[in-house]
Amino acid sequence: MIALLLFDMPFEQDIRELFMAFYPGRTYIYKADPQAGIIFTGRRIDNPDGGIYDVELIFGSHTEPEAYDEEHFSVNIYNSRTEVKNELKRQLYRILSKHTGIELPWGTLTGIRPVKIAVNMMESGFSTQEVLDEIKTTYLTGKEKACLCVDTALNEIRILKDIDYNNGWSLYIGIPFCPSTCLYCSFTSYPISRWALKKNEYIAALCRELEYTAKRMKDMKLHSIYIGGGTPTSLEACDLETLLSALKSFFNIDDVLEFSVEAGRPDSITYEKLLVLKKYGVDRISVNPQSMNLKTLNTIGRNHDVDMVKEAFALARKAGFLNINMDVILGLPGEDAEDVQNTFYELKRLAPESITVHCLALKRAARLNTEKYRYKSTAYEAVESMLDISRQYCRDMGLMPYYLYRQKNTAGNFENVGYSKAGCECIYNIMIMEEKQTIIGCGAGSTSKIVIPDENRIERAENVKDPALYIERIKEKYMDL
Ligand code: SF4
Repeated sequence: MIALLLFDMPFEQDIRELFMAFYPGRTYIYKADPQAGIIFTGRRIDNPDGGIYDVELIFGSHTEPEAYDEEHFSVNIYNSRTEVKNELKRQLYRILSKHTGIELPWGTLTGIRPVKIAVNMMESGFSTQEVLDEIKTTYLTGKEKACLCVDTALNEIRILKDIDYNNGWSLYIGIPFCPSTCLYCSFTSYPISRWALKKNEYIAALCRELEYTAKRMKDMKLHSIYIGGGTPTSLEACDLETLLSALKSFFNIDDVLEFSVEAGRPDSITYEKLLVLKKYGVDRISVNPQSMNLKTLNTIGRNHDVDMVKEAFALARKAGFLNINMDVILGLPGEDAEDVQNTFYELKRLAPESITVHCLALKRAARLNTEKYRYKSTAYEAVESMLDISRQYCRDMGLMPYYLYRQKNTAGNFENVGYSKAGCECIYNIMIMEEKQTIIGCGAGSTSKIVIPDENRIERAENVKDPALYIERIKEKYMDL
């Protein structure tokens, strides 16, 4: 248990997130408690010499004198808020690093979009070297992650350079059904078998929402479409035909820069479905193995084996898809570096145009979390070496990092990275991370983010997650359509 006692002092979230990076899985309390193993006390003090935040850290307890330790530091608060925050985090980082013996690869950077810092600096005229130095000194980020951040930012700027953010938008369509539920799943996803009877009602509701969206957005240019979920290809070929033909009648699909479908689960992919996607102009799909090791696929509850991944990939090539992404998760239960090596060896033989590498995130609602006593978690150092393997393979395959984000509660607090061949990157993935362009989400569980550039803010709106409720809401909302 860690106690955070803040008196007239902001930055609670930053402080807690830094603690979480060093001590994953601990509970936080906000009052003095003798059970707390660490007590952080921060208070603002105004004195004749200036204002300061005075910080005291107590490790261990008076009842365990051998473990007891006290640290103390102060931060001048007459600098800018950002400088104060960065200085506070640097001092706290050094103390926690000394006490745990851990150096965090990302240093004090705990946010989910570190690339934004690099992109903003580059767009303000800073050189690559200056950005690199700033990331290393201000955030104590290790050289390797700082280089990854800068490389990703350079690619992102190149990919987005001709995109008119203010007059364009992206469309997300959510299909919340899957063949089965993966052990680690925290998305809006329901087994398709339970929805066999009502799925037509879902598609009809979705088409209504799409029609309304097309009318509302008619004056803006649709840049990219992403159909995700769930697993869109868990629908039958005839359902996909219904959805895509409606989509084509509402929007000018021929003009979009990118049309992606997350085919995702190999056990949902058929040649017939792929031909429907191709017919309606889908130009990028994902075939996601997550692992190419059978024992892992069985553990995580996927209904497919390694051969099915290869078959689905071959079918996609046969159907004419020249831009295929494959998702991999590092830190899956029971996997070690050798398993990851095998996964990438197999992917290299398939030679997809892009690979998205995720670190396993323990999300609250996922079965992996609720039943975590049954699975051995992967050590921090092991995930680091898995990331090294993934980076090396992607480099050998000519895939460059183009988008990156970090998730809370990932194994080792590492990053998720999209690697791609030049020209095959997913623009939508960057847009969702950088929040520079409006994204309208249609379907159960989808989120819309409306960028209001004049006011420098984003408005969010979420659809209900439950498909039955979604169908009801759409009926009520768009009665007149
Ligand atoms: S394929 Fe994705 S959305 Fe479907 S159950 Fe697995 S993790 Fe969840």
